[in-house]
Amino acid sequence: MDIGIRNQIDLKDRKVTVIGAERSGIAASKLLIRLGAHVFLSEKKTTSGSYEDITGLESEGVVTEFGGHTERIYDCDLMVVSPGVPQDAEILINAADNGIPIVGEIELASWFTNRPIVAVTGSNGKTTTTTILSEMCKQGSYKTFLAGNIGIPFSNIILENLENEPQNAVYVLEISSFQMEYILHFKPQIAVLLNLTADHLDRYKSISDYAIAKMRIIENMTQEDYIVFNDDDPVLCKWIESPAQKAPFSLKKNPSAYFSVNETKIYNDKEEILIYLKDVSLPGKHNLSNFLAAATASKILDIPQNGIQQVIKTFRGVPHRIEFVRTLDDADYFNDSKATNMESVKVALDSFERPIILILGGREKGADFKDLIPNAKDKVKLTITLGEAAAKIEKALSSQFHCIQVNSMEEAVKTARVKSEPGDIILLSPGCASFDMFTDFENRGEVFKEAVHQLDRDKS
Ligand code: ADP
Repeated sequence: MDIGIRNQIDLKDRKVTVIGAERSGIAASKLLIRLGAHVFLSEKKTTSGSYEDITGLESEGVVTEFGGHTERIYDCDLMVVSPGVPQDAEILINAADNGIPIVGEIELASWFTNRPIVAVTGSNGKTTTTTILSEMCKQGSYKTFLAGNIGIPFSNIILENLENEPQNAVYVLEISSFQMEYILHFKPQIAVLLNLTADHLDRYKSISDYAIAKMRIIENMTQEDYIVFNDDDPVLCKWIESPAQKAPFSLKKNPSAYFSVNETKIYNDKEEILIYLKDVSLPGKHNLSNFLAAATASKILDIPQNGIQQVIKTFRGVPHRIEFVRTLDDADYFNDSKATNMESVKVALDSFERPIILILGGREKGADFKDLIPNAKDKVKLTITLGEAAAKIEKALSSQFHCIQVNSMEEAVKTARVKSEPGDIILLSPGCASFDMFTDFENRGEVFKEAVHQLDRDKS
């Protein structure tokens, strides 16, 4: 099948194989069925995470197989691959050898809209910035749709809008490097590039391979499009080559930026105040950077300045990312369960200027916890460790910090309260994966928050 000309792609009566029956594969299958394709959904694992969806799909005519891919997957005009499948997987190599065009789910969905796409990517801060930006878009005259890596497949949204796409629709997408591996025509009107640090090196051979995949997000952009990028990140800047217009953002003085920051405020290129820093809702320089990225993209979309300001003032954060939980006995509790690596813990530590009781631990990912010492010094008054990595963390940090090992999140929270004094920050920023004790980082964060809310009731 020739998919070279985007506007001429017609999937009616085409045979399409979808590889992977997780969220995005299921969404792609639904969209394809609606477009009149014959869909074969093939999953390596024996089950799908979403049994009800699969049953529904089968009744709509999708043929499925689980527990491995048979030769039937190659009997198709097009293959749609889930982001979890690595590029060097044998099935993809075979499909390419057989001349089968292969696309990802984001590429597929993007064929069926001509409305603006704003695509946000980076190693860190994607979910936060995408959410901020979608809130800002709602302040303008847009009908805003949030999708992508954030957990809402783009195909689901495109399917909902297929017949009646609002004239003023804008799609704000969180994009991961995996989702860019199989694109062809995908072209955002605005790409927001947050930062580039070593990540996913279990999947990519080098940081260059990772960057190459990530930067495909800009490969089809033209002079009419905009690249909003973090001018404070020299590694990222090296990779930006495109005819698109450039809109930098920066925490330093930068004459080319729409918004600048000084000690007290964010102001625009006409020196008008956007907001005082004391009114910014989220802590940390990293969040200031995320706000600037979203504000710059919003400015390009003509969102009124007071709408941008309103979001910066009131945005409550995304759950599990330095999320404020409550104040108790004049100490503030924060849930940063999403911090599963050292970089994220450092960012969280740098966000506070008050004494911190730090709850760390879980399943370790080969990190050196000593890396935290410079950021924790003079700030962390106690570390409470739990999970499989507890002993390792204690060994790395006990020469510098007082450490207490505990056996559960409830015990961690209770211990933190007993040891806390007015003005302290109690921060869960585990620096580890969650799977030793919890189903995922969300579950870990929920258990933490529940334990914090329970503290009152335990008061004796
Ligand atoms: P992602 O979706 O890219 O994983 P999130 O918005 O979920 O990013 O944030 C995850 C963690 O990354 C946060 O808890 C915070 O510690 C860190 N973080 C957020 N924004 C940034 C940023 N701009 N630069 C560096 N680290 C960040």
